[in-house]
Amino acid sequence: MRLTTAALLLAGFTTIGAVAQGTNNANATVSAMDKSADPCVDFYQFACGGWKKNNPIPSDQPIWSRFGELAERNRTVLRGILENAGKATNRNANEQKIGDYYATCIDEDAINKKGIAVLKPEFDRINGLKDKAGLPALLAHMHSQGIDGVFSFYSGADFKNAKEVIAQADQGGLSLPDRDYYLKDDPKSVELRKAFVEHVANTFKLLGDSPEKAAAEAKAVMDIETALAKGSMDRVERREPEKIYHKLSSQDWQALTPSFSFTAYLNGMGTPAFTSLNVATPDFYKALDAQLKNVNLDDLKTYLRWHLVRSQVQSLPKAFVDEDFNFYGKTLQGTKELRARWKRCVAATDGDLGEALGQVFVEKYYPPEAKDRTLKMVKQLEDALRRDIGDLPWMSAATKKQALIKLEAIENKIGYPNKWRDYSTLKIERGDALGNSLRANAFEVHRQLAKIGKPLDKQEWQMTPPTVNAYYDPTENDINFPAGILQPPFYDFKADDALNFGGMGAVIGHELTHGFDDQGALFDPQGNLKNWWTPEDEKAFKERTQCLVDEYDSFVAVDDVHVRGKLTLGENTADNGGLRIAYMALVKSIADSGKQPEKIDGYTPEQRFFIGWGQIWCQNQTDQMARLLAQNNEHSPGDYRTNGVVQNMPEFQKAWGCKAGQQMVRANACHVW
Ligand SMILES: [Zn+2]
Repeated sequence: MRLTTAALLLAGFTTIGAVAQGTNNANATVSAMDKSADPCVDFYQFACGGWKKNNPIPSDQPIWSRFGELAERNRTVLRGILENAGKATNRNANEQKIGDYYATCIDEDAINKKGIAVLKPEFDRINGLKDKAGLPALLAHMHSQGIDGVFSFYSGADFKNAKEVIAQADQGGLSLPDRDYYLKDDPKSVELRKAFVEHVANTFKLLGDSPEKAAAEAKAVMDIETALAKGSMDRVERREPEKIYHKLSSQDWQALTPSFSFTAYLNGMGTPAFTSLNVATPDFYKALDAQLKNVNLDDLKTYLRWHLVRSQVQSLPKAFVDEDFNFYGKTLQGTKELRARWKRCVAATDGDLGEALGQVFVEKYYPPEAKDRTLKMVKQLEDALRRDIGDLPWMSAATKKQALIKLEAIENKIGYPNKWRDYSTLKIERGDALGNSLRANAFEVHRQLAKIGKPLDKQEWQMTPPTVNAYYDPTENDINFPAGILQPPFYDFKADDALNFGGMGAVIGHELTHGFDDQGALFDPQGNLKNWWTPEDEKAFKERTQCLVDEYDSFVAVDDVHVRGKLTLGENTADNGGLRIAYMALVKSIADSGKQPEKIDGYTPEQRFFIGWGQIWCQNQTDQMARLLAQNNEHSPGDYRTNGVVQNMPEFQKAWGCKAGQQMVRANACHVW
């Protein structure tokens, strides 16, 4: 759980699978549609009905989407790079690392043969815990190798002095996706908890414990995590930066949890010295203290053993991986089959050595022209947002002036970092899967913590180059588009402008608008949490965003589960504003060209723009995944990302000739940006 409020384009749950798709040519656009649907009644079905019908969820996926298709294409490319790097001679340092990491990960037989003996040194440490006073040093040893548990500790920009990186202490230590899973009493939640406890027990049985002992251990894990969940802050509340900002002295942090020596913990972590930090959730640290007093030492060791296995399961024998998939893949997400090992190993290499792998990916598959084209489009979108802000009827001149200063200050990062990460101190050894994973984690934890007390480095990226996603970071005030997304169907240099503005244009608009959503609007041009609004304008803004909260609250995700209007507000604001300014940019681009483009496949440029938007959100997902995402994810499902936006837009209704009373014409249309 990270404190950073960086707003992504879509859920971090993107997975891959099935057959690689071709480029988004005109035929692909038409065949994805369902022309029998009425665009004014259900535009999503009209734009995506054909795609949905022809793209059932692959058995190794919980969700299948246009993002997933592209991620799959990228992953196939990465596989080729990794297989070559595993075999090649005369490798450079990065090629050795990615090649040996992947070759070791893919060798399941060797991992099975080694068995759980690889965990022995870590288990010995946990078993050697003599009293609770030894916990800080043990936990530091685990955290410094990326093994989670008890709480979270990391570094991040100081919200109120964004130039500087400070230490951040946060809630953590859970194994289910959210605190609510431990606390809710509806039948689905109760059933899921039961399945989770069984899963934990099964894992202990695989470690060699008797069924009775394993059951008692699973209960101990559940009890500890439930206590931590009770002390945790709700996901919706966490969206308010002020609620997760509490700058405390180290002594005041310690006073919240007297039972745990943070001095001993920080010594073990080897962090730079500091005297104050952000304690995101002070109440959690109070609850943690009570829990540490109550819990007995054996249960604590059981809990730590569980987190060790859980965090390193991908480097363990197949039986552990299957058991993990059985709960997290099958029960929680509704996925039928475990992904092929190569897909998991590509993902692991990307996760642990993303910029070493990404560097090769970019050299081979990301031409410099692609960067220029994207930058040109970013400029067009910035210009549209500038005009949009200037025209807003509800905002005073004083606040508009500030908003424009913020817009001018947004930095654009396209494709890949200017300066690549240096992995030279990270040792990757052929044949040592667990060691590679732990050393890569340790490298990353150290890299992050070494930033404490240093100036914020805005050149860094939070996503790897092959990632099919994008983000806005409010403390950096920048938009970031990895090379992985700058391809069809988002951007196709063979397609018409209208389609590209509806795809990549709207994605750029989305990220720019994040600078002005309910979170982004709280940060100033320098990335500080500082109000730049007049009170009247702030009130008008909140009234307008409330319209979006109400609209999306009314949408049903699956069964009785609704989209959560407050949880998804930032994303919905970005979708609505982003599509509107992309439309403005298209209209201007057509006007500047001096000639109206001809219809393509029978559709005007305006119509194709909206088809382009709808089609980046085509998706199929399991009911379990729909439930999981609606409860925990800040993005609305694809159908509402399409219909929820167009029904607010007179431009859409004009393009398609929709009439009042039809579903895609909302009576009380919302309009923020
Ligand atoms: Zn977003």
